[in-house]
Amino acid sequence: MLKIYNSLSRQKEEFKPRGEEVKMYSCGPTVYYYAHIGNMRSYVFMDLVRRAIKFNGFKLNGVMNITDVGHLTSDGDEGEDKMEKSAREQNLSPYEIAEKNTKVFFEDLEKLNIGKPEHICKATEYIGPMIDFVKGLEEKGYTYQISDGVYFNTAKFDRYGLLSGAKLEDKLAGARVEVNTEKINPYDFALWKFVEPNHIMKWDSPWGVGCPGWHIECSAMGRYYFGEYIDLHTGGIDHLPIHHENEIAQNDALNGHKTVSYWMHGEFLQVDGGKMSKSLGNCYTIKELEEKGYSALDYRYFCLNTHYRKKLNFTFEALNGAKVARNRLNELVLKHKNAGNTTVDLTEYENKFVEAVNDDINIPLAVGILWDMLKLEPSYKIYEQAIKFDEVLGLRLNEIKEQKLDIPSEVVALCEERKTYRQEKNWAKSDELRDKILALGYKVLDSKDGYTLEKV
Ligand code: AMP
Ligand code: ZN
Repeated sequence: MLKIYNSLSRQKEEFKPRGEEVKMYSCGPTVYYYAHIGNMRSYVFMDLVRRAIKFNGFKLNGVMNITDVGHLTSDGDEGEDKMEKSAREQNLSPYEIAEKNTKVFFEDLEKLNIGKPEHICKATEYIGPMIDFVKGLEEKGYTYQISDGVYFNTAKFDRYGLLSGAKLEDKLAGARVEVNTEKINPYDFALWKFVEPNHIMKWDSPWGVGCPGWHIECSAMGRYYFGEYIDLHTGGIDHLPIHHENEIAQNDALNGHKTVSYWMHGEFLQVDGGKMSKSLGNCYTIKELEEKGYSALDYRYFCLNTHYRKKLNFTFEALNGAKVARNRLNELVLKHKNAGNTTVDLTEYENKFVEAVNDDINIPLAVGILWDMLKLEPSYKIYEQAIKFDEVLGLRLNEIKEQKLDIPSEVVALCEERKTYRQEKNWAKSDELRDKILALGYKVLDSKDGYTLEKV
């Protein structure tokens, strides 16, 4: 039984989708800039949730948006559209910026072995459903229009603030001086924003030329694919107090009932104990990690070792630790792959692994169980079980190749000589040579097809 922590009820709950297939919506990237490794932690989290759902035998239907319009420089309704700002700075059109960054984003997903959700939707291609959504809210009396756009009246929705709870109180206490004095309530948010004539991304609407608010994008695209009920919604923790609070208000106001059953949020990645920011120059990308000699899977492994609801601190020292550990893990997997098909009872490991995954996706614990299992005597059965575990972990364990060690010719000659002695069943000579090889820094691992070498 899969249990997950629901941010809405603030407790672990049994995951029970409404129908045959799990309807899962994940907030995707705003493609005004390249995605950094912090963003990628959120998608590794999404991927682990998707894999855990499938591992439990559910059929999955996932949607992820690409925000290519409407996300302003603040998460509220102030500032400029991120895409337009970036386009101006880089002297490209917002569409070119979006295309460039979306391409790199999907390349990074592939490198990180993050499964692509079944439907990927670009906000600019769903303007019609967004306008229809706002019209629906207007008909039900939840909207009002002021000089810069159409707004949602949060006072009309009595469950506003339920998701963020106390956090909303904090927000109220520390509220900034309201920029937009025309709004009825401080938390009212834009559904449709009018834009200046020089704005490149703009569309006609019943209220005037403009572009959609960021929050309505996810609500409208979720509704387009799933209708009035969504089983699970994921995103980064920063989206909880504003973006997701507003999505709930829009969805539930229009549908007249609770729309999303479970909300899951991934915690942030910090760098050197602090915030990742472009001005500090610590917004690394997957490409930059690769340039420093790390593979995307080293970063994935690094993420896997901290629970998704805990903050994770990135340092190169820690990433290096993950790289070394992953190499060792791969070596162990190979050792079992090359071993005979001996009988070994793995039920205990299997049960513990399932228990860990089903206890709110406890991947660090699941990885520990894999390690324990790999330390057993070599057996091909263990290899097969590790590949099964990897359906959740996604470390591409089935693709591990023998590492080509740069072996001195002296060692190779000794190994070949030893092979002849073994064929002649001269075990004494064979053991003598094994010790000689060990003294030169290599361990011989005999297998059914011959031998492999491991550096000691
Ligand atoms: P954005 O492109 O800003 O909409 O962000 C894309 C995703 O990355 C969202 O789910 C954010 O919550 C998430 N995100 C942004 N910064 C970080 C970070 N430092 N650590 C983890 N997730 C992040
Ligand atoms: Zn969203």
